[in-house]
Amino acid sequence: MALGWFKKKKTETQDGQPPHETAPEVPPVVDRSNDKIDAPADGHVAVDAAEPDTSLPDDHREIVTGKAKSGGMLQSLRRGLSKTRDIFTTDIDELFSGKKAIDEDLLEELEEILITSDIGVQTAMDIMERVSNDASGIENAAELKTVLQAEILSILQVDKDPPAPIRVKPHVIMVVGVNGVGKTTTIGKLAAGYSSAGKKVLIAAADTFRAAATEQLAVWAERAGADIVKHKDGADPAAVAYDGIEAAAARDADVVLIDTAGRLHTKVNLMEELKKIKRSVSKKLPEAPHEILLVLDATTGQNALSQAQLFDEALGVSGIALTKLDGTAKGGIVISIYNTMNIPLQYIGVGEKIDDLQPFDPQEFVKALFCRPAS
Ligand code: GDP
Ligand code: MG
Repeated sequence: MALGWFKKKKTETQDGQPPHETAPEVPPVVDRSNDKIDAPADGHVAVDAAEPDTSLPDDHREIVTGKAKSGGMLQSLRRGLSKTRDIFTTDIDELFSGKKAIDEDLLEELEEILITSDIGVQTAMDIMERVSNDASGIENAAELKTVLQAEILSILQVDKDPPAPIRVKPHVIMVVGVNGVGKTTTIGKLAAGYSSAGKKVLIAAADTFRAAATEQLAVWAERAGADIVKHKDGADPAAVAYDGIEAAAARDADVVLIDTAGRLHTKVNLMEELKKIKRSVSKKLPEAPHEILLVLDATTGQNALSQAQLFDEALGVSGIALTKLDGTAKGGIVISIYNTMNIPLQYIGVGEKIDDLQPFDPQEFVKALFCRPAS
């Protein structure tokens, strides 16, 4: 299963989903230097922060280390990226038809191809520079692809600040992003993953704008085996988030996922509303939210980048989940995000099902861009 980075304990799922597999144990947390949280002056916090979570590693991506390479996961990534891969394989093969070396025309066409994949103009130019430097040694499409793979991998392997380690109970993840990008779906997938790892998960339904939003989230919570805290439609989202943390403390939950709206009907600025939720959460639990996960929709291509900049400026984003990489030809956006932003890409969504979320692995991603899945 794609969401294989947590230890699996379930054997049955709903909606015809395939049963979870058993994955190996996750490595233990090593650094516990900041375990303790001080109670605020208002005495509100009822959270026991003294017990560090020792069953999940510091870097959430490490949770998947070793499991990302499971055959099913790779196959689904490769299938998902088929449209983007057509650009990086078929289109590049065609560049060399009737040619034995790189010339000006070919370079121009290559730049066009890269831009078609939504790699971004700047990133395309950076890659082109490297290809031009190596041009004399490139005589065919296979050699060009080797150079491209190395160049893309070097962009994707640049270290970004890792997300906050899971050290306290509850670990609070606020999930943000514009309407329709896949926030609720990603929360459902994440909740299922943490649940399967034996974590008690609570979801706070702080998207109170759309009537159907809470219902949709409740369905995901049930599938994932998570608790949900909800108020009436139109309630103050900050109050829902606050209650979510309070309930998590009372119920001894390990992880809180806060769903938020992507647009609002009042004139209140979305960013102001999100900042209010963030403040309300930290009033209840200092240091929280421990993560602000920005969900971006890969099919929006370069638009996703401007959203990342906006949300990061307003809230300080700790990580990105890039959804809908399945079936888009704009998979190059991953490379663009890495080349231009200092935010780690933690997860990629490759479908609508509970299993269709994967940790981002640069090497596997590059392989999936250039290699077809075995049929
Ligand atoms: P929200 O408004 O940000 O909460 O977005 P939703 O979670 O409601 O998702 C909007 C639509 O995108 C739904 O139809 C989801 O099934 C779909 N979706 C979410 N993630 C993915 C993904 O990784 N791949 C595909 N194909 N669809 C997705
Ligand atoms: Mg939603």
